[in-house]
Amino acid sequence: MIKKELHSHTTFCDGNNTPEEMVKAAIEKGFLTLGFSGHSYTFFDERYCMSKAGTRQYKEEIARLKEKYKSDIEILCGTEQDYYSDMPTEGYDYVIGSVHYMKAGDRYIPVDETPDILISAAKKHFGGDMIELCRRYYETVADVAAKTGADIIGHFDLITKFNENGALFDTNDERYIHAWRQSADRLLKTGAVFEINTGAIARGYRTAPYPAPDIITYLKERGATFILSGDAHSTDGIGYRFEDYEYLLD
Ligand SMILES: [Zn+2]
Ligand SMILES: [Zn+2]
Repeated sequence: MIKKELHSHTTFCDGNNTPEEMVKAAIEKGFLTLGFSGHSYTFFDERYCMSKAGTRQYKEEIARLKEKYKSDIEILCGTEQDYYSDMPTEGYDYVIGSVHYMKAGDRYIPVDETPDILISAAKKHFGGDMIELCRRYYETVADVAAKTGADIIGHFDLITKFNENGALFDTNDERYIHAWRQSADRLLKTGAVFEINTGAIARGYRTAPYPAPDIITYLKERGATFILSGDAHSTDGIGYRFEDYEYLLD
């Protein structure tokens, strides 16, 4: 089984465990590498991200753990850089670039908070057209590598988080397919790695990882490389169900 996890959150942002608890759990599970990817600070929504002061402490704490556990596990200090974050990314071992918001006028609409937020945002800003909202989402995602300097593209189709069984929109709609393909084509040119993210399964929102199977196939056929990630918000989430999904990397 893959013993490398690069997408993990701690009490410095919206995770439930301290970095040291995460390290101990990863060692216990036999992991060879654990990368931390604290949510970058976003001034317009401070509920889930690292504070500015917290970001400094986070880097210090990960550096301490890197040294303390160096004979047991490789520890990396990364960040999950939101598209709309203006925090510097220099000095991190790697960057995951993620779109968690869409901008409509001067409002930042969270993509992954509740289905109701998406439904009312579609009504208010996109004439009630959910596919149009998805189009805006994928337009933003298309630019995420350029904007954040990402090495890894986070949860490419996060917009489907609440769309199990087509609850909000039809992913077979031609306009939907066109939107994600355009986005994928732009990102493929950057050479960034795509993640296959099991986090929403761990937290009970989805029954399959991000991205959807047809997107994975499309990306693979065009030479994309992938990593598995658990988007762990607690020790349980480290490497969540990697054994079930590592076949997707082939
Ligand atoms: Zn994320
Ligand atoms: Zn994350």
